[in-house]
Amino acid sequence: MPESGLYIHIPFCLRRCAYCDFDSSVLGDGPEVEKYADAVAIESRASSSFLPGLTVQTAYLGGGTPTAIGAGPLAGLVDSVFSSFDTSAVVEFTCEANPENVDAEILEAVRAFGVNRLSLGIQSFNDALLGWMGRLHTAAEAVAAYEAARINDFENVSLDLMYGVPGQTRDGWLDDVSRLIDLEPEHISTYCLQLGSGAPLVKERRGINLPDDEIAVEMYYAAKEVFEAAGYRHYEISNFAKPGFECRHNVNYWRNGEYLGLGPSAASHVGGARYTNPHGLDAYTTAVAVGRWPLAAPEPSDPAREARTALVLGLRMLEGVDAADFKARYDFGVADTTGEDIGILVDAGLLEHNGGVVRLTRRGLFLSDEVFSRLI
Ligand code: SF4
Repeated sequence: MPESGLYIHIPFCLRRCAYCDFDSSVLGDGPEVEKYADAVAIESRASSSFLPGLTVQTAYLGGGTPTAIGAGPLAGLVDSVFSSFDTSAVVEFTCEANPENVDAEILEAVRAFGVNRLSLGIQSFNDALLGWMGRLHTAAEAVAAYEAARINDFENVSLDLMYGVPGQTRDGWLDDVSRLIDLEPEHISTYCLQLGSGAPLVKERRGINLPDDEIAVEMYYAAKEVFEAAGYRHYEISNFAKPGFECRHNVNYWRNGEYLGLGPSAASHVGGARYTNPHGLDAYTTAVAVGRWPLAAPEPSDPAREARTALVLGLRMLEGVDAADFKARYDFGVADTTGEDIGILVDAGLLEHNGGVVRLTRRGLFLSDEVFSRLI
């Protein structure tokens, strides 16, 4: 059985960040967490009946903010999901967390149910920028949360930073980068601010002055240089890791492996087909209540589309895509999959095709969305 990942979405946050376009809603005082946990437990049992041989190697609690629902409810939800699958071979179990709800109690609880990797959303060390983003923590609280994770024996911690934020300067960004490196996390993710149509800032039509593209490009490459000089390997467009600390769950995804996603908007790739759960808490719980399972109605298989998706996912990794392996796995050559586009992208300096491997060029890394929209 190939490696399989299990993703559990926790669609609750204490407040919506100004830029957020994820499937998440503000946690109220009602019984919504309990109802949600019941729905996920039902979905888990139904999924395990469709996928009886699924053995989970990596698990990932994402959101939303998983830690926002509290230690007891989170432990109960994970326990009910895990009881539906063979999780005896899990080697990596990540939990996303935000600094405002990281304390000894939640850290001990998540460790007790098997989490061995913490992904902490720091975003910035600049309190003014954190305020603009609508984050609920200060820089000092983020550092305290990181230190609490270390005190509680977390040996694999990933930190997120955001660039391209209004008001952020190149020097300010490099200061964030340097403060992050001083903390010595095992893994770093950097994201350029992107505002989807569901972001509160966009909905409220607040004036937004994003930095020029050239400044965002400079920020990306400057950070890459500093992280690499500090011993981090740039292994995916937005991700850097100390050797051996690449996120195994996400690497499986980029290598077009199998994974099952539970919860609203969660995506799955099993048996060569892709499925996506309904968006939004209400649509999801309604679908669960009537037993409308995406897994029960597989999309017709489309080998050409599967090969194109695999190519785009593989190109996210800096190692690139080995053309011979690709042909052996999908029965389509890279050139059959891309037609003339690969030549156009090579000529434009966005892709390189050397020694049987296709990969993004240094320039293509920042312009990857452009490359992928042409290939998909
Ligand atoms: S960005 Fe993350 S923490 Fe902020 S509201 Fe969205 S899901 Fe929650």
